[in-house]
Amino acid sequence: MPATSIPTSAASTFDVIVIGSGIGGLVSATQLAAKGAKVLVLESYLIPGGSAGYFEREGYRFDVGASMIFGFGTQGTTNLLTRALEAVNVSLETIPDSVQIHYHLPNGLDLKIHRDYEKFLQELTANFPHEREGIRKFYDECWKVFNCLNAMELLSLEEPRYLARVFFQHPLACLGLVKYLPQNVGDIARKYISDPQLLQFIDMDCYIWSVVPSDRTPMINAGMVFSDRHYGGINYPKGGVGQIAQKLVEGLEKVGGEIQYKARVTKIITENNRAVGVELADGKVYRAKRIVSNATRWDTFEKLLPPEEMPTSEKKWQKRYQKSPSFLSLHMGVKADVLPVGTECHHILLEDWKNMEATQGTIFLSIPTLLDPDLAPAGYHILHAFTPDWIENWQELSSSEYEEKKEAAAGRVIERLEKIFPGLDASLDYLEVGTPRTHRRFLNREDGTYGPIPGRKLLGLLGMPFNRTTIPGLYCVGDSTFPGQGLNAVAFSGFACAHRVAVDLGL
Ligand SMILES: Cc1cc2nc3c(=O)[nH]c(=O)nc-3n(C[C@H](O)[C@H](O)[C@H](O)COP(=O)(O)OP(=O)(O)OC[C@H]3O[C@@H](n4cnc5c(N)ncnc54)[C@H](O)[C@@H]3O)c2cc1C
Repeated sequence: MPATSIPTSAASTFDVIVIGSGIGGLVSATQLAAKGAKVLVLESYLIPGGSAGYFEREGYRFDVGASMIFGFGTQGTTNLLTRALEAVNVSLETIPDSVQIHYHLPNGLDLKIHRDYEKFLQELTANFPHEREGIRKFYDECWKVFNCLNAMELLSLEEPRYLARVFFQHPLACLGLVKYLPQNVGDIARKYISDPQLLQFIDMDCYIWSVVPSDRTPMINAGMVFSDRHYGGINYPKGGVGQIAQKLVEGLEKVGGEIQYKARVTKIITENNRAVGVELADGKVYRAKRIVSNATRWDTFEKLLPPEEMPTSEKKWQKRYQKSPSFLSLHMGVKADVLPVGTECHHILLEDWKNMEATQGTIFLSIPTLLDPDLAPAGYHILHAFTPDWIENWQELSSSEYEEKKEAAAGRVIERLEKIFPGLDASLDYLEVGTPRTHRRFLNREDGTYGPIPGRKLLGLLGMPFNRTTIPGLYCVGDSTFPGQGLNAVAFSGFACAHRVAVDLGL
């Protein structure tokens, strides 16, 4: 690759530049700054957080994406959001949720995932009494994975000395994890369970966070999700999900790190095939010993670097993993009395199993004001409904066609939600509709994708790349690295990336 000759001022040289302030990027940045590195975060948007950001309209504060938050537990080692904040001396008040999800599924299957494990098993068993034994065995096996993870400090699996230390301290937990690393949930579920509808439920219980059925969902991730919801639990940050990134930035600055907004990186500068700096849209150049990209792998290797020089390992990865769909999102403000007493915060709605993975099939719904009423004016709630959709369905439309299509799609979602909340349409006070185009534009993610999903059945998590790339000096962090999507998962990636970079910098 030819060397660039872009001039740089000495003042703009850092130990580490992080491109993007998603939770993965911020955890990496705060960890490195706390270890004494000179860190600069460059964020193209106006505020930090990416898919965990927020926006305000007419007295409502909406979460852009994530609302069901893992990682805020108080014990063990998997409470990575709590730990990331603590590392830079900041904290957040969180509100515990007693139910992770209220499912409204085909054939009248209506059940809740209670925080209390036994209560959850009882409710599931009441729906499938003939599978009593299999249900307990399956979920108990998920706990085995979780207990292994929750016994050890979660850092970079690319760091041999750490691996040796962890193996020495926790040999059984490590061997347990090695066993589950190449496995998917579906194979293990079918060992214990044969009822087709219960297996479809397990598919859905995976799909809502992995965006693929259980056969393609890695067992390591399921061990985390299916157990931590009963251990650390689901906890909502007071003030909205956007607070997580705001607090991480506060912590970053406290330990001497810097962040710039409206700073869109257009190019990763390489010299002698080594990443040495970045160039911004306004032409500014910053150099650093290490560059960490929190953009997706597609954006990193196809837009920030010349696509024709894409490393072979990336080409291979793109054959194994594909972009998941994006979402059609409805951000609603509604009169409070439309929600019956006892309504849960998170809901999943599907009327026909064959539509689980279909475009606009499964509807996800979060009502965070049930936990934090201050996010809406008194007497109102916020509802965020979203359903998978593809960018292709929203391209090449005139602006009037685009608006009409959004209105029609939103109308269909509201009509379906009326079955759970009759009178919803009439109670609407505010509605804003986002499409995959909105996600692409504001989240800076190619095609607005939620992240990578296996294109076919793979060996569990074995194919997911860690943080180093084949370009020396360049690392990736966030949901296109091990272990994948979700705030706690990208926080894991942030810890791992910072650990590997710190070792490489001799910190
Ligand atoms: C609708 C929706 C609902 C979700 N629900 C949940 C949930 O309930 N629970 C959960 O745990 N997870 C949920 N997720 C997933 C979770 O939000 C993501 O997996 C996670 O936030 C991704 O974090 P990240 O660090 O990989 O990066 P991102 O959030 O993608 O952030 C990357 C940042 O980098 C910036 N950036 C990119 N390119 C550049 C560039 N060239 N220059 C400068 N800046 C750049 C972007 O602007 C962005 O701020 C949801 C996601 C969506 C979209």
